[in-house]
Amino acid sequence: MKPGKRILITGAAGFLGSHLCDRFIREGFYVIGMDNLITGDLRNIEHLFSLENFEFYNHDVSKFVFVAGPLDYILHFASPASPIDYLKIPIQTLKVGSLGIHNLLGLARSKKSRILIASTSEVYGDPTVNPQPEEYWGNVNPVGPRGVYDEAKRFQEAMTMAYHTFHGLETRIVRIFNTYGPRMRLNDGRVLPAFIGQALRGEDLTVFGDGSQTRSFCYVDDLVEGIYRLLFSDYALPVNIGNPDEITIREFGEEIIKLTGTRQKMIYKELPTDDPKQRRPDISKARQLLEWEPKVGRAEGLKITYEYFKSLPEQEIKHKDFTYYNNK
Ligand code: UDP
Repeated sequence: MKPGKRILITGAAGFLGSHLCDRFIREGFYVIGMDNLITGDLRNIEHLFSLENFEFYNHDVSKFVFVAGPLDYILHFASPASPIDYLKIPIQTLKVGSLGIHNLLGLARSKKSRILIASTSEVYGDPTVNPQPEEYWGNVNPVGPRGVYDEAKRFQEAMTMAYHTFHGLETRIVRIFNTYGPRMRLNDGRVLPAFIGQALRGEDLTVFGDGSQTRSFCYVDDLVEGIYRLLFSDYALPVNIGNPDEITIREFGEEIIKLTGTRQKMIYKELPTDDPKQRRPDISKARQLLEWEPKVGRAEGLKITYEYFKSLPEQEIKHKDFTYYNNK
């Protein structure tokens, strides 16, 4: 669509960042990937290294960011993004959402780039309205375990809007709901890799609380399509991108048991502090502004994702400790 245009993607070696790199490469962009590899994994983008229109910098965007040459677009996707990650590295999570976004907005301003930032349904906290429209302000505990992520992302949105209104910068904000697909980290603690990993190891599936809490899972290709459309729209306020097909965690566990054919059962563990009770995106805005809606149903998406996890090396599947497996 924009051949020859140059785009910087932060968090390029992560789950979403790597899929975005693939998409923009496919569309003919020159892609500059950046990642400090704390939670990212170079295996997600190693197939791109031989391409002429891809380069990669191992850099922490919380420190001053320099990119030589012109830059048309920036996608800011660098951040730890699972509860386990931000419990383990809370300060880095806060820094990438605050110092990091400041650096990237400054870069966007100096290069006259359009910047899209990855925000999250976590800005709604433990929501008291369901589904969540963009106008809902949220119910967030700033000092709970999720506060470091939620407040960093809320600050990031505020900072981005300030650059938009004060400096006239072209900005876009996507609020991403639970997303899944190949290249998720098997040991990132999220429910989907947790359940599939447990099934593959022949362990019981650990449901937190009574499993009545809900989530709505979006397949990664649908999410990438929504982000692509948002970048090229002219809308600067936040837009929810996610799949509104809501399910309880208990029902989700049953689906994983069926999918994997495991003989294990679900066991119940303590519900983590501030775990949202319900989450479902209101996607009216995306439907109307971007003519976007998800296309991949859970049955299809889960099958592809299961095949991916099954194809991982045996020792990685067995490595169930929640540390970073590959490069740490
Ligand atoms: N969860 C669970 N078992 C696990 C991991 C997570 O029951 O092994 C629950 C978790 O408490 C939450 C939901 O699954 O209610 C989704 O958790 P996840 O960490 O994937 O993402 P969140 O949407 O909470 O950020």
